[in-house]
Amino acid sequence: MLRCMLCGETAAVSEREADRLRAAKEGAAYICELCRNRVRYESERRRR
Ligand SMILES: [Zn+2]
Repeated sequence: MLRCMLCGETAAVSEREADRLRAAKEGAAYICELCRNRVRYESERRRR
């Protein structure tokens, strides 16, 4: 279980994804898919 740093939503991840996201437990921020999409959208909008 990981907790999104933006919305605080907890997410159950698959084993493969958990392995990929192991860095999250080591300090890197975990952001759920929803917030990731939102952040990407915001940054692309800001770029213009
Ligand atoms: Zn989120």
